[in-house]
Amino acid sequence: MAQRVYLDANASSPLHPAARAAMLDVLDLPANAHSTHRAGQHAFSLVEGARRRFADLLGVRPDRVIFTSGATESNALALAPHTTGVPEPLVSAVEHPSVLAWGAPDRIPVTSDGVVRLDVLADRYWVDTQRASTAAVMLANNETGVIQPIAEVLRLARERGVRVHVDATQGIGRMTLPPELAAAASVAYSAHKFGGPQGVGALIVADGGPIPARARGGPQERGRRAGTLNVAGIVGMVAAAEVAKGAWAGLGALRDRLEADVVGLGATVVGGKVDRLANTVCAVFLGWEAQDLVIALDLSGVEVSAGAACASGSPERSHVLRAMGVAGSAVRFSLSFATTEAEVTGTIDVLRTLCRAGTHDR
Ligand code: PLP
Repeated sequence: MAQRVYLDANASSPLHPAARAAMLDVLDLPANAHSTHRAGQHAFSLVEGARRRFADLLGVRPDRVIFTSGATESNALALAPHTTGVPEPLVSAVEHPSVLAWGAPDRIPVTSDGVVRLDVLADRYWVDTQRASTAAVMLANNETGVIQPIAEVLRLARERGVRVHVDATQGIGRMTLPPELAAAASVAYSAHKFGGPQGVGALIVADGGPIPARARGGPQERGRRAGTLNVAGIVGMVAAAEVAKGAWAGLGALRDRLEADVVGLGATVVGGKVDRLANTVCAVFLGWEAQDLVIALDLSGVEVSAGAACASGSPERSHVLRAMGVAGSAVRFSLSFATTEAEVTGTIDVLRTLCRAGTHDR
């Protein structure tokens, strides 16, 4: 293929031109948003304007938005013991490692489709009031794209007095965010997944639920997250979020085309029977180790991942696939706003060639 094709948006999306333009406007500003002089006040007003717009988009009050360095930090702020008051919150078995790291080892299981077991949530775990006062269930999985029944998770939690943290990192740009998210104890976002820059994100916290600062120092973010604000990053993140809003237009149709052809090649789609993000196809290709296929695709100009980018290259099998009881390894194709019809066609052509060659070799 003459031009390389990037289908790894769940690892990191390309920067959206709107985010780039918004950032370029502020990158040369010299000021710290907490300096008292005029330049500082200007930087502060940019941050506060972005905060209001982001809050508006999410349907929450601006003072509930804490800007962070990304979802890893947001998850840590929300789930560290000094925040939750419990040693190990309950977490689902398919969470990102930045959530699993804080959770109890007996995780909430998922069905073979990757959907969190609501019956277990309701009956087994939430009777234990000590541990169960905080739980974490992600909005949608980064490897499979499977969307969790968050409204129901939050309803059950409310009945039992459980606070729920939602890692919504993969939501913006790929689905319509459920309005119920506004009722979660906290929600994590990361700009680089939806066309914003890397190294910036947000944690949305509940009304009346102050989160103690982990990084102590300056008074930034109302004392909840010390450190100089990333003004350009914040402005870029919000510009990207406004463009992405629900799902990037046309993404679902492109994904469906790719998925139909992948199935036509004899692959099995992981979580294929349930609600998934509009941009993700996670598939097991018969006779292929996922990592071998990822390398073969890369050599042919197509960039994808075997599971999550942070787990790629590790000999450990994906904890998500293990939790779902899926045998074998899977390749993840994740599309972005920049993906074109021609790129999907090119990818299918490459896959067809590789699968044909692969079949002859084995
Ligand atoms: N949570 C999920 C579901 C993710 O997909 C990722 C990124 O891979 C993260 C958290 C971590 O995000 P960040 O790169 O902003 O730290």
